[in-house]
Amino acid sequence: MASVEFKSITKRYDALDVLNDVDISISDGEFVVFVGPSGCGKSTLLRMLAGLEPITAGSISISSEVVNALPPRDRDIAMVFQNYALYPHMSVGHNIGFPLRMVGTPKPEIERRVSEAAEMLGLTPYLARLPRELSGGQRQRVAMGRAVVREPSVFLFDEPLSNLDASLRVRMRGEIKRLHQRLGTTMIYVTHDQIEAMTLADRIVVLRGGKVEQIGTPLELYNSPASPFVAQFIGSPA
Ligand code: ADP
Ligand code: MG
Repeated sequence: MASVEFKSITKRYDALDVLNDVDISISDGEFVVFVGPSGCGKSTLLRMLAGLEPITAGSISISSEVVNALPPRDRDIAMVFQNYALYPHMSVGHNIGFPLRMVGTPKPEIERRVSEAAEMLGLTPYLARLPRELSGGQRQRVAMGRAVVREPSVFLFDEPLSNLDASLRVRMRGEIKRLHQRLGTTMIYVTHDQIEAMTLADRIVVLRGGKVEQIGTPLELYNSPASPFVAQFIGSPA
């Protein structure tokens, strides 16, 4: 587990100002959901935390250590994307174990961790199958397994369910919640979906126009929205 701190974060892509002086503090084991209009910088925040995108100004800390200069592989973070590219020629088990093979983890330990991750995600019966033999939800679980197997201190989810149909989204939402309850790991989750945000989050961060509009529990945002924008997003009575 780990705490995460975004401190005075500013991000520019050439002439485009994306984020301006953003502060977000996330506690150990917290489930925090980032919401906001398309293009407001949600993915950029995750990518900077993962070390995939440089920060223009400000600092990011993981468990009080500033990680600005740390390469992605040293950050103890695993990310789950919407477009979970699985290796088509590799079995489910090999897909899940891939990140561990990459870093030379001993084989018996890989087997142990893959079977634990598979068990947690209901994939045990499918370990020998190829991705094309799985349903969409099962594939998304394999992508989650690939993150779980690394036993990271922080999970990042970037709209992981947007490609799934509505009923599958509801099921997978439950699975992600159970995963958090079981592991207790810090999770940061980006979504467009208001119900996803309300049901998963310990706290929600509403981003708008490069700034944090409001941070609070789902109930706080519902009962005391800081602006009409937040009220509209949350669906609280006007
Ligand atoms: P969100 O995830 O909230 O939809 P993003 O973080 O993906 O937003 O993007 C924020 C803004 O930055 C958008 O206007 C997007 O077009 C722009 N942007 C994202 N990545 C790049 C990049 N690599 N180069 C230039 N502009 C980018
Ligand atoms: Mg995005």
